[in-house]
Amino acid sequence: MNVWRRLTGPRRALALAGAGALVAGGLVTIPGTAAQAATQCDIAYTSNDWQGGFTANITIKNVGDPLNGWTLGWTFPNSSQRVQQGWSATYTQSGSQVTARSMSYNGTLATGASTSIGFNGAWSGSNPKPTSFTLNGVACNGGTTPPTTSPPTDPPTDPPTDPPTDPPTTPPPGTKVDNPYVGVRGYVNPEWKAKADAEAGGSRVSNNPTAVWLDRIAAINGTPNSSSNGAFGVKEHLDEALRQGAGYIQFVIYNLPGRDCSALASNGELGPDELPKYKAQYIDPIAAIQSQSKYSSLRIINIIEIDSLPNLVTNTSGQPGGTVMCDTVKANGAYVNGVGYALAKLGAIGNVYNYIDSGHHGWLGWDSNFNPSAEILKTAAVASGSTVNNVHGFITNTANYSALQEPYFKVTDNVNGQTVRQSKWVDWNYYVDELSFAQAFRTKLVSLGFNSNIGMLIDTSRNGWGGSARPTGPGAMTSVDTYVNGGRIDRRAHLGNWCNQAGAGLGERPRANPATGIDAYVWVKPPGESDGSSSEIPNNEGKGFDRMCDPTYGGNARNGNNPSGALGNAPISGAWFSAQFQELMRNAYPAL
Ligand code: BGC
Repeated sequence: MNVWRRLTGPRRALALAGAGALVAGGLVTIPGTAAQAATQCDIAYTSNDWQGGFTANITIKNVGDPLNGWTLGWTFPNSSQRVQQGWSATYTQSGSQVTARSMSYNGTLATGASTSIGFNGAWSGSNPKPTSFTLNGVACNGGTTPPTTSPPTDPPTDPPTDPPTDPPTTPPPGTKVDNPYVGVRGYVNPEWKAKADAEAGGSRVSNNPTAVWLDRIAAINGTPNSSSNGAFGVKEHLDEALRQGAGYIQFVIYNLPGRDCSALASNGELGPDELPKYKAQYIDPIAAIQSQSKYSSLRIINIIEIDSLPNLVTNTSGQPGGTVMCDTVKANGAYVNGVGYALAKLGAIGNVYNYIDSGHHGWLGWDSNFNPSAEILKTAAVASGSTVNNVHGFITNTANYSALQEPYFKVTDNVNGQTVRQSKWVDWNYYVDELSFAQAFRTKLVSLGFNSNIGMLIDTSRNGWGGSARPTGPGAMTSVDTYVNGGRIDRRAHLGNWCNQAGAGLGERPRANPATGIDAYVWVKPPGESDGSSSEIPNNEGKGFDRMCDPTYGGNARNGNNPSGALGNAPISGAWFSAQFQELMRNAYPAL
């Protein structure tokens, strides 16, 4: 795993924690009444509430002329009520007014036809159901044209006499929710949890969801003898997720032919020409397990192939530090076709969500890397029979250390008339932190044809940069360099450093909807697992020795010939590194 590279210099709010006890619920039916209007509608609105949150399901019945596209509108009775994450419509909310617009696939409604939409929301105080709706501007309970039928003589009661029994909080199986992280608990990998719990103070963080890395074919059935993973295979993890009552589980699909082509620490088991084996012996068996109906209630999230596609853009030979292996897998299509195959096969499963890895700001933040990387992601998304619909979103900063936000300087700041982009640290990058990069990259990807509701994930497992070395204010305004270096919370010697970084801390704990366009902050790299050994350690797991993991290494073109910044005495990638885990806890930000 790894990497950096630059080539040329110059959704909001609360995570709905555990949809625990149902404390209220109800059904309201509003019959259509505007008989002379072309538009007539019946709306059934049900809500399942718990403290602070709710899931609403709305059935729209068209009792008027055929519709080709619809917009449903209502006003929440209580100003605290908010739509957070919806499905089967595009939602916007302004004040208490909400509009839900049809999607391409459910806009056509024949006379008498119905369609169902829904959303997860938040409330405080109370959560009364809206009492009137409009469809294409025409009121469903009276409307802009005079009703010819009388208003309901038996208005719905609240609370209902016959509340739904334990209704689903997610759409029916096969319907993907917009944000799989919302409203449900994440799976805690017991194998990682045991390692964290064995550390002094580890129980403070061991209940966080982390991803399960399928880093070799054998990991599908469990690898009790590997340094990284344990006896659980895909099936055991999924069974355990059901037992935990988890709502989502995260796997990392990480076994491309010629894997980690620009570094040595995580070269995998498949040679560059083994695409057929990748498909038949790795992706197909994973898909066969993930598609079993007993797991259909779980939201299965696959993080697809860390570092792979950006490496084809920035690390082919002829570029600083480029490699022949990257040339090979670019020329033979192994990465593009492997990713396309994984997306198509896994994305076909109704409850599976694919997020493709898309580097980090310190790698792709220059236009010369940003644009071509977005393009190759698009190429892979439509390779091997896949379409963009198999892509739910993208992840940035996987297993990296880039700060989520730099609080003490912005990319637009100037010092003595010079832009901070000119500082040694920023080095003409257009982004100085991960959040701004992820949001901008999302916009770029949508402009290339990815669905407009894709969401980003950011791996915050090790980008906290707290502890005593964390600056508390901006640097001195003497020069762009004093200003940036004094104020930046990312304390690395260079943004290209990626291996077991000294001084790093745990970052934001996993949570849904932390910012616009971001589906979740996640812990994909399990904190405490090494990025690579600091000296050569013979092993039969395909793990090489990369000098970027050696604390005595003075660097190369790709990290501006800076020291590697790596901790010493590190084991091979994936193996438990107690000293690093202890430091990550000490330097956690937010602090533990
Ligand atoms: C290693 C994998 C490991 C993963 C998570 C990667 O760098 O190559 O073996 O499972 O990190 O720690």
